[in-house]
Amino acid sequence: MAVTEDATAIAGELTQLRRAIHAEPEVGLNLPLTQQKIVAALDGLPLEVTLGSALSSVTAVLRGGGAGPAVLLRADMDALPVAERTGLGFASRIDGTMHACGHDLHSAMLVGAARLLSARRAELPGSVVFMFQPGEEGHGGARFMIEEGVLDAAGQRAAAAYALHVASAELPFGVFSTREGPMMAAAEALDITVTGRGGHGSQPHHAADPIPVACEIVTALQAMVTRRFDIFDPVVVTVGSFHAGTTNNVIPDEAKLEVTIRSFSPQARALVRDSAVRVVHQIAAAHGLTATTEFTGSYPVTINNDTEARFAAGVVTDFLGEDRYHPQANPMAGAEDFSYVLEEVPGAFIMLGACPPGVNPGTAPFNHSALAVFDDMVLADGAALFAELAVRRLTG
Ligand SMILES: [Zn+2]
Ligand SMILES: [Zn+2]
Repeated sequence: MAVTEDATAIAGELTQLRRAIHAEPEVGLNLPLTQQKIVAALDGLPLEVTLGSALSSVTAVLRGGGAGPAVLLRADMDALPVAERTGLGFASRIDGTMHACGHDLHSAMLVGAARLLSARRAELPGSVVFMFQPGEEGHGGARFMIEEGVLDAAGQRAAAAYALHVASAELPFGVFSTREGPMMAAAEALDITVTGRGGHGSQPHHAADPIPVACEIVTALQAMVTRRFDIFDPVVVTVGSFHAGTTNNVIPDEAKLEVTIRSFSPQARALVRDSAVRVVHQIAAAHGLTATTEFTGSYPVTINNDTEARFAAGVVTDFLGEDRYHPQANPMAGAEDFSYVLEEVPGAFIMLGACPPGVNPGTAPFNHSALAVFDDMVLADGAALFAELAVRRLTG
C-alpha cells in the first residue's frame, strides 16, 4: 500500500498524540512528559530506542532488511514560555507555556514516520535514525544529542539528515518549501557591559559616565553594519535592551546592553562577531572606560546541502505534486539548531505550511505568537514525506 494511504490511516492517532503533547507543553532540555508520550507511541515498533542523559531526548534506530547507509530524520520536542491565547479545545494546560512553534506536530509526524517505515522494514536497504530532540528554542539540544552520538546511532555516520518545520503563516496549507544553501540565519546573543565610575550628575568630570559611551556604541554598531558588510550577504544587529542608571542626578557605574545579531554565511558571521566586539571595546577605550562582551546562546547558519535540498524538493513534487512545493527565495532570519546537524551531515531543512485552510497565510499569526494555530491536517503528509525521504534516499 502507498505511504500516503498508510499515513492517512494513522492520521487520527497522530492527531491525538499531537494534541496530548500540545496540552502539556514543556520548555528546555528536560521534557519528561513529552519524552514519555513519544516512547509510549513508539512502543511495539521494531526500533532500538535509547534515551538521552544530558537531556530528555529519544533516539530510535530502525534497521532495514538489507545493508546500506543510514538516514537521520529529526523532530524537535520543546515548547516556548508563551501564554497560549488560541482558545483551542486542546490548548496548553500549563500556565505560561505553549507549543507556539509547532514542535508538537514535528514530534507526532516523526512518530508517524517511524510507524510507516517500520511497516516497510524488510524492504529498506539501510537504517533510519529518528532523532527526537528537546531544547531547540535557544538551548542547543541538537549539540547535546550530537555529543551523545545521535549521528552515529545506527553504527555508522548518517549519510543524510532531514528536518521538517511547520509554519502557522506565510506558506499556504500543505505546501513544502526549501532552498539550496543558507536556509536560516546564524543568531548570536551578545551581552555588553560598559563600566565607568558613578558620581554626582552635576559633576560629570569627576565621574566616568557610561551612558553616552553606551549610546555611541549603539549607533556605531549600526554604522558598522552599513559600512563593513556586503549588502548581498546581509547582517542584522539589534540592540534590544539598554539599561543604566536609577535617577536623573546620579551618574551610574555601568550600562548594560543586550544585542541580537543575525547573519547568513559563516564568513559574515565571523566578521560581525569580531567587528562588534572591537567596536565596543575601542569606543569604551576612546573615552577611558572599559567594557566586557559575552556571546551567549549562539546558533550557526543553517545551511542546506545543495544536492539534498534539490533531492527533497524533487521528492515533494514527485510524491505529492508540483503544486505542493514552493522554492524559498530567501533564507529566513530565524535560527535553528539543526544547523549543528547540517555542519556534520549533508541534509535539508524543509518548511511545511500548516496555516488552517480558510485563514490567510499572509496575515495569520506567525510561529511564536500566543495566537499561532497549526492545523492537524498536515500531520499525515508530514509523516509520509519524512518516510518517503528516507525510503528514496536509501533505495535511490
Ligand atoms: Zn521557534
Ligand atoms: Zn521551531
